[in-house]
Amino acid sequence: MPHQPKLHGASIALNSRRDRILVIGGGASGLAFALTCAAAGVNVRIVDKRPHRSLIGKATGVAQGVWRQLQRFGVTASVIPDAIPMRNFVFYDDGSLIANVSVPAVDGSQPAHLYPQGQLEQHLEHALHTYGVSVEYGTTLVSVAQSGVAAHVTLMKSEGSVPELCEIDWLIGADGAHSDVRRYLNLPFVGRDYPEQWSVAEIETSEWPPEVQAQLLLHRNGTGLFLSQPSRGVVQGILNAQGAAAELKKRFGDAEVKYERNFRVSLRRVPRPRIGRAWLIGDAAHVQSPVGGQGLNLAIWDGITLAEALLDNDLTVEERLAARARKVLFFTDFDYRMLATRVWLLRRLRNSYWRFAAGNPIVAKWFFKIISGVW
Ligand SMILES: Cc1cc2nc3c(=O)[nH]c(=O)nc-3n(C[C@H](O)[C@H](O)[C@H](O)COP(=O)(O)OP(=O)(O)OC[C@H]3O[C@@H](n4cnc5c(N)ncnc54)[C@H](O)[C@@H]3O)c2cc1C
Repeated sequence: MPHQPKLHGASIALNSRRDRILVIGGGASGLAFALTCAAAGVNVRIVDKRPHRSLIGKATGVAQGVWRQLQRFGVTASVIPDAIPMRNFVFYDDGSLIANVSVPAVDGSQPAHLYPQGQLEQHLEHALHTYGVSVEYGTTLVSVAQSGVAAHVTLMKSEGSVPELCEIDWLIGADGAHSDVRRYLNLPFVGRDYPEQWSVAEIETSEWPPEVQAQLLLHRNGTGLFLSQPSRGVVQGILNAQGAAAELKKRFGDAEVKYERNFRVSLRRVPRPRIGRAWLIGDAAHVQSPVGGQGLNLAIWDGITLAEALLDNDLTVEERLAARARKVLFFTDFDYRMLATRVWLLRRLRNSYWRFAAGNPIVAKWFFKIISGVW
């Protein structure tokens, strides 16, 4: 017998109609939300405008808190044997080794494991499928309106096709940094853009040192190259300037470039994640620099936390979502400012901290506790 939840303001049984909950966006946040509903026996519909899932490299670090949240769907057990535990993190400034940090365990296990975002999403999608829900690809949200009791949205399958009008109880905007849900609802996206043009590239190489999982190469001019190993034989480089692929080629003689792309980074969030019958989660609600590796993790946390709360008819979740986003954005901005600083004194302080932390796991722990998402 499927779990029959109460849904705030909805008098009709959830399973009696298909579109009680509609998720826009089949990325990590939308999948996590839909999976939590589907596993509880609640009908949920999830659409994505892409023709199919993109496997282009994005996040590589998956936090302990997320592995725990995904445990009950069987995702953690099937993925973690292939994920790479984050045990060593090496940090250079102007070519000199500053610290080789042995990553301390948090609550008895590694704060994060490396695993490619695209493959994790495939596992989430597979788990969703086992509950009979599939992402409807090639379906785009083209309008949103709200009355007091319902959200009214229009979906289009393809250019020139007949639009589909839906009336729903909850609209979940999980449609990424350029969210259409946010735009149609005229929600402010408060914050600022970082001035730099960033780049990300991935290479295949056999020269990555197996005892290290991540390297950070900083420079007095404020640039920083973050190297990690999303899967064995593959290295990802993220640079807060153009030219990530060239930097990788300089360091790995056998580098075969898989892709390179430029992107801009902002620090923005919606003041509240809910307006009427619509919620925003993941990048649609907050964006930040990739420093600290929190975007994917916060997106999945948002999705599962919101779904669980709605199933329990608990609307106080709005404040929890907003508070966590504020904290994570504060942390990633602070982290980025420290990494990219050109101020001599701050560089000295930062480097001294990491030198000391390398020999004193207790000192490094506060940082890795935040990375772990267990707070
Ligand atoms: C280079 C790079 C490295 C990163 N590294 C890390 C890391 O190590 N750790 C970490 O935690 N995070 C990292 N991030 C951040 C992370 O990738 C994002 O925060 C995460 O993808 C957000 O997931 P999401 O589901 O909210 O949005 P998205 O992944 O953007 O998904 C949104 C989906 O909505 C769909 N959509 C959009 N508009 C519509 C519409 N109108 N109708 C229907 N569908 C629509 C899109 O097609 C898309 O599939 C990184 C990001 C980048 C760019």
